[in-house]
Amino acid sequence: MARVRIKLAEVSPSLPSSPLPTSPLPSLFIRGGRIIDPASGRDEIADLVVIEGRIAETTARPDCSLPVIEADGLIVAPGLIDMHVHLREPGGTQKETIATGTRAAAAGGFTSVLAMPNTNPPADGPNTIALMRQRALETACINVFTTGCITVGMKGEQLAPIGSLFKAGVVAITDDGHCVQNNEVMRRALDYARMFDLLTLDHCQDYNLSAGGVMNEGYWSTVLGLPGWPRIAEDMIVARNILLSELTGARILMQHLSSANSVRLIREAKQRNVKVHAEAMPHHIALTDASIEGYNTNFKMNPPLRERIDQEALLAGLADDTIEILASDHAPHASYEKEVEFADAPFGIVGLETELGIFAKVLIEGRVLDWPQMLAKLTVNPARLLKLDRGTLAPGAVADITLINPKHAWQVDATKFYSLSRNTPFNGWELPARATHTIVSGRVVWSLESGFTER
Ligand SMILES: [Zn+2]
Ligand SMILES: [Zn+2]
Repeated sequence: MARVRIKLAEVSPSLPSSPLPTSPLPSLFIRGGRIIDPASGRDEIADLVVIEGRIAETTARPDCSLPVIEADGLIVAPGLIDMHVHLREPGGTQKETIATGTRAAAAGGFTSVLAMPNTNPPADGPNTIALMRQRALETACINVFTTGCITVGMKGEQLAPIGSLFKAGVVAITDDGHCVQNNEVMRRALDYARMFDLLTLDHCQDYNLSAGGVMNEGYWSTVLGLPGWPRIAEDMIVARNILLSELTGARILMQHLSSANSVRLIREAKQRNVKVHAEAMPHHIALTDASIEGYNTNFKMNPPLRERIDQEALLAGLADDTIEILASDHAPHASYEKEVEFADAPFGIVGLETELGIFAKVLIEGRVLDWPQMLAKLTVNPARLLKLDRGTLAPGAVADITLINPKHAWQVDATKFYSLSRNTPFNGWELPARATHTIVSGRVVWSLESGFTER
């Protein structure tokens, strides 16, 4: 194995690219909400005071001159974190930019996103990371955390400079959109990631087993005459990653789990204390491949929608915490790119503005999870895995806060999205809950009533 040239002592801590702080940071009084802080187990009706951008002691008495948010009937949660987002900048700004993607996130209740590195050029070196962080400082309205590629150009051949990426501030590495097929390359990547205790995120797809596939291999692919992308192509890489995590001691998160067998493999590995983790997406728990009946390309994503048995396994995995993360895989594509034959359309759908409502519909209304359990997968769990100084309402913490109305019924209208793209399978859906305020470092960035606050 090649020698690591970077000395750990030289490495600076990973910092988010946060919006430029206003000075002094704002103070705020949030009155009478249901405070749910999964990090501490707190769940009670109480007031929350923010002093200069940080959560105050629970005993703090608010100064009566503070701005007040009446939170009666609302949930007051740590700012939501989506750890799987494609912002498309640089190189894909007809689909999304850091400015529009973070506005979509804020309007969905998110105070932090983790940007995937499959930009153009890919984020496989410190220069691209520096560019993305600078653009985020200038244009993002919420926190943007960055990932770096596992391999140069995401080609799966030569390792990216993982030490330099870490030094540049990435909080995880991934080739998302691609999957490293060479097991020896993946093993060496994990050896490096282990040295920096960086989380590795993997898009689990065996290319030979899924070659040419555009939807789940099964009854519907046969009926529709479309090439199948079978579960086994995901399961095989999940099994590989479990073995490599055991060998190297590196932490691996399996992205966008879609298959029942993958859930079982990860559950069994966790019982043996292997450091593997998993995330689930709204579309895989809300939809099945039967939705593709009309060849609508807004139902085409990677991995594909699967069957009822997989949906049930994902829900069971969320319920028993085999799957600790909920995220969107927000993957914007311009209309002209999606308005083609199903087989030719790009994979992926937008998700930031609908995911909280979809999760509430499937998981809360479906009695799979309660609010504290669901919010843990959107706050403290991603914060801990990525080692972010976020995801809690503990006194002294950065005041990233999301207010949610758990009884706000609304209908999805894609024409009203803040995202530059409209590729959603959920247009017209009735959803039971919605974020009402998105607060970053004590500043209300967006509210349902007043829209965006310009900084
Ligand atoms: Zn992916
Ligand atoms: Zn992705």
